Amino acid sequence: MKTKILNVVFDNVLPQQAVTEALSFLDDEGPRVIFTPNPEMVMLARKDDEFASFLNSADLIIPDGIGIVYASRLTANKIAQRVPGIELLLDIFDSVKDTNCSFYFLGAAPGVADAAAVKMQEKFPGLNICGSHHGYFGEDEDAAIIAEINTAKPDIVLVGLGFPRQEKWIFQYKNQIDAKIFIGVGGSFDVLSGKLRRAPKFFQKLGLEWLFRLLRQPSRLWRQRVLAKFMLLVIYKKIRGEL
Ligand code: UDP
Repeated sequence: MKTKILNVVFDNVLPQQAVTEALSFLDDEGPRVIFTPNPEMVMLARKDDEFASFLNSADLIIPDGIGIVYASRLTANKIAQRVPGIELLLDIFDSVKDTNCSFYFLGAAPGVADAAAVKMQEKFPGLNICGSHHGYFGEDEDAAIIAEINTAKPDIVLVGLGFPRQEKWIFQYKNQIDAKIFIGVGGSFDVLSGKLRRAPKFFQKLGLEWLFRLLRQPSRLWRQRVLAKFMLLVIYKKIRGEL
């Protein structure tokens, strides 16, 4: 089942279904793409048609962010719960840790993806992380990074360059990289490495992870104003019968 929120068509999946679906891509031929849009990304997709088309052409579009779940309640196909990208990753690691499935971590500040790889190998002994690279590189380095990834031969490439860069990067290069799955992971390496703490369970349960982030980083207020805009826009569209 699909749920359209503004310009983005989400897969209406529960966390376990998302993992099962993601892992099923390992048996497929072509490169598969997984994105986890949050309200900020949906808002950008309204203004940026190219970004919207990148998002919507993914094979699995997961509802990340409580705002997406609230917005879906105004549509015919309600989404039961959010599927945080970070939890999807942890569940995938846990499911494949004893297999040959290998990962490449691309993104975040220098040292962070490496630290995330070490942490994840400690947490999931047997997990195969075959390479990593930070996310602060210019277009002139793309070819070298692609060559490095192809030498490492990962099955799954996690790309955490922030949106919309990571989505564009994946679409531009997925056919030049010999991997089965590409996942846009945003700031996940910061969390996996321990550099950034996730909101305590209390905030997560109440759907207030955004508030925790705001309290920790008040500078995000400017960024988060888009969340309020998103909810108001969804309500406005609902009233006008356009949702
Ligand atoms: N980042 C990067 N290269 C860049 C810009 C950002 O690797 O040129 C990384 C940044 O270090 C962070 C992630 O991309 O790890 C974006 O994090 P954010 O919390 O903004 O995630 P989002 O909201 O996009 O999921």
